[in-house]
Amino acid sequence: MTESFDIIVMGAGPSGAVAASYLARLNYKVLILEKETFPRFVIGESLLPCCMEYLDEAGLIDAVKERGFQVKSGAGFYREDKRCEFFFDDQYTKGWTWTWQVKRAEFDQILAEQAAKNGADLRYGCEVTAVQCSKEKQTVQYKTKDGGLKTAEALFIIDASGYGRVLPRLFDLGKPSSFKARGALFSHFIDVKRTPEASSNIFVHSFNNNSSWIWAIPFSDGTTSVGIVGDQEYIQDMASDGAVQFKEFIRTFEDLNGRFDESSYLFEPRTILGYSVGVKSTFGEGYVLAGNSTEFLDPIFSSGVTFATASGMFSAKLIDRQLRGEQVDWQTEYEDKLRKGIDVFRTYVAGWYNGDFQTIIFTENINPEIKKQICSVLAGYVWDETNPFVKKHDSILATLAQVIRIKEREKTA
Ligand code: FAD
Repeated sequence: MTESFDIIVMGAGPSGAVAASYLARLNYKVLILEKETFPRFVIGESLLPCCMEYLDEAGLIDAVKERGFQVKSGAGFYREDKRCEFFFDDQYTKGWTWTWQVKRAEFDQILAEQAAKNGADLRYGCEVTAVQCSKEKQTVQYKTKDGGLKTAEALFIIDASGYGRVLPRLFDLGKPSSFKARGALFSHFIDVKRTPEASSNIFVHSFNNNSSWIWAIPFSDGTTSVGIVGDQEYIQDMASDGAVQFKEFIRTFEDLNGRFDESSYLFEPRTILGYSVGVKSTFGEGYVLAGNSTEFLDPIFSSGVTFATASGMFSAKLIDRQLRGEQVDWQTEYEDKLRKGIDVFRTYVAGWYNGDFQTIIFTENINPEIKKQICSVLAGYVWDETNPFVKKHDSILATLAQVIRIKEREKTA
C-alpha cells in the first residue's frame, strides 16, 4: 500500500526538522523518514546566533531552551601569542546575541521530536533507497529497520539527508568542492580542569602556518569537544597510531594543557575526511535540497547548522507558497539566495586559510566598527547586505589585509 503525504522530508537533522516543523504547523501532512534512530552521533556542535531565528520561527526553540545547553556568547581565535575574541552582543546586525553549544545527538533528537509534537509523522530506522520525481507526484521507496520495503508519495520532497546526500547521488547532482580535501580528528573529553576563560565559548587556535587549527567547544555537563582540522594527509598521519599523537599534541596548546588526561576520553578519536562538497543544482521538479545535502564548505566558522536551518526554513516557505498555488521562481528565490550566503562564507573560509582573515583579526588595533561588522558575519548574518563585510565580501577582506600588511611592514622598516 502506498501512503500519501503533502511533503516527505528525507533526514531528521536540523535542516529536516526545521522544514518539517514549519510545514506541519501550517497543517500540511508531513512525513519525516530518518535512517537512524535518534539519539545518534553527528559532529557540528557550536551554533551561530542567526540559527536561533529559524529555530524560533519553526516552533522549536522553547524545547531546546528547556534542556539548558551551554550558552555561547562569542568566539575566540588564537594564533601563537595573538588573541582575538568576538562577542555577539557587540555586532553590527541587530539580531540574536547568543546561542548554544550542543551535543548534537541530544539537540537533534529534541528538534526532531518537537517537529513530531508539532504534527510531523517522524519515522526512525527508515532509509530512503529510491526516488522518482515528476510534475504531478513524487514517489519515495524506503527500507524499514526490519528489512521491509515501503513506498510513500507526496506533492513535494525535501532532501535533508546531510552527509547521506540522497538526491545528489540518485540524480547525479554532486559536484566537487572548490576547497582542497581536508579532514578532522576529534573526541569528547571530561574537562577536569576547565579554566574560567574556557568555560563557555568556542576557541579556535591556528597552527601549521594557517593550514591547520584546533577547536575546543565546552558543553554544560563539564565535557568538551576537541578536534583538529588540516590537510587530509596530516589528519591521516595524526590518526595513524591510534591517535596517540593527537592526545599528546592537544596538550601542547596553552589553553588545553592539563585539562584532560588519558582516562578522560569519552570515545576513541574519530576521523572524518573530504567533507567539503558541492552540488550542480539545489532544486528540480517536485524536490529541493536543504542543509548539507546542498553544499558544505568547511567547519572553521561553525556555519553548518545555521545553513541547515536557514535552507530548511527558506525551502519550507517556498513549498508552502507553491502548494497554495503561487508561482515560485526556485532559481532566484531559493538557489541564488542560498548561494549568496554560501559565497560570503566561502570568502571568509578562503581568507582563513590564505591568511587574509587572520591578518585582519590579529592586527594590534583592529578598528572597532570593522570588528562589529565582521562579528555579524561570524554570527551567521550573511544575508544582511547593509553590512559592508557582507556586501563587498569578495574584495574587502583581501584589500584590508593588504593595507594592514603594508602598514605593518612600514612600522618595522
Ligand atoms: P545532518 O545533521 O547530517 O542530518 C541528516 C540526517 O539524514 C541524518 O540524521 C541521517 O541519518 C539522515 N539520512 C542520511 N541518509 C538518509 C537516507 N538515505 N534516508 C533517510 N535518512 C537519511 N556545523 C556547525 O553548525 N557547527 C560546528 O561547530 C560544526 N563543526 C563541524 C566540524 C566538522 C569536522 C564537520 C565535518 C562539520 C561540522 N559542522 C558544524 C557541520 C555540521 O555537521 C552540518 O552542517 C550539519 O549537521 C548539517 O545538518 P543537516 O540537517 O543538513 O544534516
